[in-house]
Amino acid sequence: PDLAIGDLLLQTAARYPSHEALFFFGKRIAYKELLASAQRMAAGLQAAGIGRGDRVAIMLPNCPQTVIAYFGVLLAGAVVVMTNPLYVERELEHQLKDSGAVAIVTLDLLYPRLARVRGEAPESGPVPQLRKVIVTAIPDGLPFPKNLLYPIKQRRAGPLPDIPYGANGVTRYASFMAKAARLPAEVQIDPEKDIALLQYTGGTTGIAKGVMLTHRSLIANAAQCTAWFYRLQEGKERFLAALPLFHVFGLTVIMNLSVLIAGTIVLLPRFEIEAVLKAIRDEKPSVFPGAPTMYVALLNHPDVKKYDLSSINVCISGSAPLPIEVQTQFEALTGGRLIEGYGLTEAAPVTHANPLWTRRKIGTIGLPLPGTQAKVVALDTGEELPPGEIGELLVQGPQVMQGYWNKPEATAASLQDGWLRTGDLAQIDADGFFTIVDRIKDIIIAGGFNIYPREVEEVLYEHPGVRDAAVIGVKDAYRGETVKAFIVLRKDVNVSAVQLDRWCRERLAVFKVPHQYEFRADLPMTMIGKVLRRKLQEEEEQAAA
Ligand code: ATP
Repeated sequence: PDLAIGDLLLQTAARYPSHEALFFFGKRIAYKELLASAQRMAAGLQAAGIGRGDRVAIMLPNCPQTVIAYFGVLLAGAVVVMTNPLYVERELEHQLKDSGAVAIVTLDLLYPRLARVRGEAPESGPVPQLRKVIVTAIPDGLPFPKNLLYPIKQRRAGPLPDIPYGANGVTRYASFMAKAARLPAEVQIDPEKDIALLQYTGGTTGIAKGVMLTHRSLIANAAQCTAWFYRLQEGKERFLAALPLFHVFGLTVIMNLSVLIAGTIVLLPRFEIEAVLKAIRDEKPSVFPGAPTMYVALLNHPDVKKYDLSSINVCISGSAPLPIEVQTQFEALTGGRLIEGYGLTEAAPVTHANPLWTRRKIGTIGLPLPGTQAKVVALDTGEELPPGEIGELLVQGPQVMQGYWNKPEATAASLQDGWLRTGDLAQIDADGFFTIVDRIKDIIIAGGFNIYPREVEEVLYEHPGVRDAAVIGVKDAYRGETVKAFIVLRKDVNVSAVQLDRWCRERLAVFKVPHQYEFRADLPMTMIGKVLRRKLQEEEEQAAA
C-alpha cells in the first residue's frame, strides 16, 4: 500500500533480474537492464535540477524509451505527463503550457513540431519553462522501420530534421544517458499524496484536462485488475502492447500491470494489422488488452486464419462499446477469453469489468472491480436509482483521481462527497451488472424525447452493408434537434439512404429514426479508435453558419 511506482520496478528487477521485460523489433531487454536505464534517466534528470513535483513530458510511440523514461521520471520523484505523439502544434502547446512541463523526452522525427511550439527563441517563447529537451532516435541501436510511426496518411517519413543538439537545452538521448550517474538520489515519495501522472483526458467531449493520479491510484488500479483476473501468472505472462502506452488504458493495463506481475511487454509502435498478427504468431503474447476497433480490424483481415493466434488467453476490451459479434468471433478465432470492461482517465482508468473466468454478461461492462463502489443516480435529484433505471454512473475507489490540474471548478463538479461523476449514463440489472447507455453530453433531445445515439448506431451497425456509423443531433427549427447519421459502407456494397431508413423504421420508434444520412469514406476517430462525435458536430455547425 505504501509503494511508489518506481518501487514496483525495483522489486520486480530484484526478483527477476534476467527475465525479459521488453521486446521490441528483435531486441530483448531484461528487467535489470530496464531498471539500470531508468535509474540513469532519473539521475540525469536530477542532475538537470529536476525533482519532486516537477512535470516531465514524454512524447513517444511505444518503444523501450517510453518505458525507460516513464520509470526514470518517477524514480527521480517527478511527475509524468504523457503526450500523444500525434498531437499537432496547438494541442501540444496547450498541454506543455497547462502542465508547466520543464522537460520533455521525445523522438527525433517528432522534433520539428516541438521546435515550432517553442519558437525561435525558446526562453521567451510560448513555453519558456520547458528547459530540457531529450531527443531519442530510434534506432538508438534498435532496428526500427521509420514508416511505422506515421499512422496519419499525410505525414510521410521524410529525411530526418536538423536538430540543434547542444543549443536551447536540446540533448541527444544517448549522450544524456552516457553522462548521467548510474544511480539517482533516493527521493521520499508519499504514494497517497504525490502525483505520479498528469494524464490528459481524451478530449472526446471538449478541451483536454489534466487528471492528477497519485502513485497509489495507479498501483491500486493495476492491483485491482490482477485481483479481478486472478489467473494471471507471475513471471509468465506476455503482454501485447498494441494499445499506446501514452494512453492511460495501456499505461495501467499493460505497462504497470506487466511490471507488477513480472511480465514481458511486446512493444508495437503503432497498430498495423500485419505487424500485430506476426507479433502474436512469433512472440506468443498471452494478454492482449485492446479497443474494440482493434479486434474488429483483426477479424476483418483477409489472412487472419493463416496465423496461429492460440497463445492469446486474455483480452480486455475497453474505451468504447464492444459489439457482441466481435466478442464471439474473436474468441472463436483465438480460443482465449475476450471480456468487456469500462473506465475513464479520471479513474486510472478501470472501474468495471466482466468476470474473466466465471459468469459474464455479454453487452454489459460487468461488475465494479474489487475495492470499487458504483451507483446510478437520477440526473435531476442525484438520488440513487433502483436496478433497471437509467441515470448517471458514479464511482468511488482508490483508483479515482485527486482532481483536475489547476481546475478547481471542474474538480468540484466532478468529485462530490467522495464520488466521481463519470458523465456516462448507465443502468444496473438485477444481478448487479452495469450497462453503459451513452454519454450524457451526447443525448439528443428531439421534440421533447430523449434519444441515445448509441442505440441508433447499434441498429445501423447491424445492417450488413454498414461498416461504421455515428449518430449526432443537429439543429432543427421544429423539433429543436433531429437525428443525423454518418455512415461508412463496407467495400463494394451499395446501400441507399432509403434502404437504411426502412431498416431503422422496422427497428426503432419513429422519433429515433435518423432524418438525415451522410455517406463518408471514414469517420473521425481518436487515437484509440473512438468515433469523435464532437468533430462531426463541429463540422455540422460550421456548415450551418
Ligand atoms: P474527454 O473526457 O476529454 O471528453 P474521453 O471521455 O474520451 O475524453 P477517456 O477517459 O479516454 O476520455 O474515455 C472515457 C470514456 O470512454 C467513458 O467516460 C465512456 O464514455 C467511454 N467508455 C469507456 N469504456 C467504455 C465501454 N466499455 N462502453 C462504452 N463506453 C465506454
